[in-house]
Amino acid sequence: MKKIPMLDLRLEYEYMKEDIDSAIRTCLEHQKWILGPEVKELEDKIAEYLNVKHCIGICSGTDALVLSLRALAIKIKGEEYWDRDDLIITTPFTFTATGDAILRAGATPLFVDIDPNTYNIDPARIKEYLTQNSQLRTHNSTHVVGVVPVHLYGLSCPMDKIMAIARKYNLFVLEDVAQAFGGIYKGRKLGSIGTAGAFSFFPAKNLGGFGDGGMVSTDDDELAELIRMLLKHGGKDKYNVEYIGYNARLDTLQAAIVLAKFKYIDEFNERRRKVAEIYSKELAGIDGLVLPIISAFHVYHQYTIRVLRNKRDELKERLQRKGISSAIYYPLPLHKMKVFHEKCKLVSHLIEAEKAVREVLSLPVEPLLTEKEITHVCEIIKEIMTNDKAQILNKVQMTKLKW
Ligand SMILES: *Cc1c(COP(=O)(O)O)cnc(C)c1O
Repeated sequence: MKKIPMLDLRLEYEYMKEDIDSAIRTCLEHQKWILGPEVKELEDKIAEYLNVKHCIGICSGTDALVLSLRALAIKIKGEEYWDRDDLIITTPFTFTATGDAILRAGATPLFVDIDPNTYNIDPARIKEYLTQNSQLRTHNSTHVVGVVPVHLYGLSCPMDKIMAIARKYNLFVLEDVAQAFGGIYKGRKLGSIGTAGAFSFFPAKNLGGFGDGGMVSTDDDELAELIRMLLKHGGKDKYNVEYIGYNARLDTLQAAIVLAKFKYIDEFNERRRKVAEIYSKELAGIDGLVLPIISAFHVYHQYTIRVLRNKRDELKERLQRKGISSAIYYPLPLHKMKVFHEKCKLVSHLIEAEKAVREVLSLPVEPLLTEKEITHVCEIIKEIMTNDKAQILNKVQMTKLKW
């Protein structure tokens, strides 16, 4: 059997080759590389798809988060940046960029633990913090200004609970939708529920370009206008600016490629669901594995299993020896990283996030994998996990003997 990678972007290119080549050719002909017509076309198409008023193309998902947070500081606080006493609640179990964007916008990330079943931020933990600390407000100079929920692996956070908390405590909600393009929560597209949503077109994301790219979605006119200013150096006129800005425009060429691939996004998310369905059927009942939630609204940016009894790294290594790739998203929770050490706040011991980093393993989820290839991956996993059981028994007996 041939090697099975996590993703095979060449296969996807072949599948969409005509559309992509023609999109690139059009750019070569018009030569409008900065904010060319494809950027606006993509913004309009995605705004319509998400059912939001504004979409703004940005040069990366990370910058989409940073610019949104900066614009929120300007709008809500009337200042360029948040400051260290402004807390923004998020999950420690995410890509670095989520927490890093909070630091770059001047605020302090407040990490609360995840729900072990979904790997997403646990609204009960958010509520717990806010209930306990709202009484302390007078003695406490720090206060919570917003929440950044991350729809990890393509699964929506419980948005109605998060929005209810946000309304009660007057918080903004910035959805990190980098892994969940096309995902849905109770009939609404992710990125259309919070104050704003930040998307990534990094090549390996569900909707990816051929380089970096991103987008912000929002219904808020003022935020949209501020973000449009920030991405072009901080002013409506780049020769006379008002804010500390960035050069964070989405490339015309990336917009053209993403636009060509956008045509396939629903089909490809459906293919990912199909891959997930086969995994879940084939891997059901294997002792020592916990499978992810199955949902028609999940877009399976990753199909992530939990491997119990400290067997994760060994399973990964043995799969690799059989030519099957797998990946650990993420090996460290954010609060354990040096960059966040003295710059973050923890509600309590983040037990579930610390457990998840030791147990999760993401399997190949390439939408163009064949059923046979997925079944092959499952058979190898079954083989390893069943042999393991015999080996564990052996080890137990050996240790007993030694004692
Ligand atoms: C990929 C990702 C980002 C950052 O997006 P880039 O386009 O790579 O800058 C942010 N948050 C999460 C959860 C991501 O997975």
